[in-house]
Formats: sequence, structure tokens, C-alpha cells
Amino acid sequence: MSDVNIQRGWIIFARALKASRFGSLTEAGEWMYRLNVFARSLGGRHPIIDQIYDLKNALIKYLYQRGYAREVKLHFQNRICFGCDGTGEYWTGDDCRRCGGTGIYSSTRLYAFRFKVNGHSYAWHQLEKLIDYPVQLTEAEPSPFVEPLRRDDAILKLEDAWLGCCVVWWTLLLHGRKADLLLFPATWHRLKALIAKLKISQEEME
Ligand SMILES: [Zn+2]
Repeated sequence: MSDVNIQRGWIIFARALKASRFGSLTEAGEWMYRLNVFARSLGGRHPIIDQIYDLKNALIKYLYQRGYAREVKLHFQNRICFGCDGTGEYWTGDDCRRCGGTGIYSSTRLYAFRFKVNGHSYAWHQLEKLIDYPVQLTEAEPSPFVEPLRRDDAILKLEDAWLGCCVVWWTLLLHGRKADLLLFPATWHRLKALIAKLKISQEEME
């Protein structure tokens, strides 16, 4: 990444193994909480946003499949049609053609996960289309999406955010899941080859 030079990147990468307390799920969860808020606060386009969401997907999948979910609900986020202001019809009484008379321009379906990891609670949303594994809802009825409340300690410097990404990445690896890491695009394939040599199983190592 242009923001972090390669040498600095390796130092962060190595520091992250220790910072993860050698694969603590609690550390990974705390970092992912901060990273998720950080990604939202960045708003625009930055490569770290994709990195954070890739790791978030992988962590949610791992936690869900290992039984850490306490609740999974389906939420929908509707965008109101501005052609008719959400009423579904024009002032003439005709059906709005933009939304087909529904008043809703688009609807996004999200899974709302609640995890409990070693006494810490985490609530994360995930787009339904990104979930490629079976998920059992704990509540059958979908409900409207509500923007989650934020804690205050979530603002990160970019370098700390990369450290956090590496912490989550190490934890996933030490739990048998290989996620992609974009920190060093040039040297990443060498690291992958090294991991392959070490024959770290894709399956759980616990
Ligand atoms: Zn409309």
C-alpha cells in the first residue's frame, strides 16, 4: 500500500502476531469492532476498506460456524422512492412508475449477528449476498435496520488500522482460516507460498 511502505508493513505484520496474543479471539473481536467503525468513518474509497470488510466476513463466518452466535436476525434497509416521496403514487393518483407503486426504491437485506466471545459482545451486520454458508435465523420475522450505537474509542490512525487488520488475519490463520492480506501486494504471494509449505490445514487446528 502506498500509505505504508513495505518495510514498515513487515514490522506491523510481525508486531500484530504478538498484539493478537497469538490468536486470541477476544483481541480479534475488539480490533474488528474498531476497524468496522473506522471503515465506516472513512466513507470514500481506500484499499483498507475492502481489506477490513474481507476480514470481517471471514471472522463472522468463523465465529458463526464455531457456535459463538447468540442471535441472528434478518434486517432490511429500505430506500424511500423520491419520485413519489414514499407514497407510491403521484399527486394525480396514478401509481408511481419509478417504484411500481410500492414507495420503496430499493431494499437491502442484511443479517444482524450478535456474538458472545469470552464474555465480550459484538453486533455486526453482513449483507445477505456475501453469506455463502448456511445460517439459521433465531427470529423468523425480518425487521427494519437500525444504525448501531457507537462507542467512543473507535477512531484509529491508518497505521493502527493496518495493525488491527494483521491481528485479525493472524487470529484467523491460527484458527485454521487463511484470509487474504493486501498489506504487501508485491510480497504477498511469497508469504502464501511459505504458508503452503508449512502445510497449515484449511481445517480447524484446535
Ligand atoms: Zn415512487
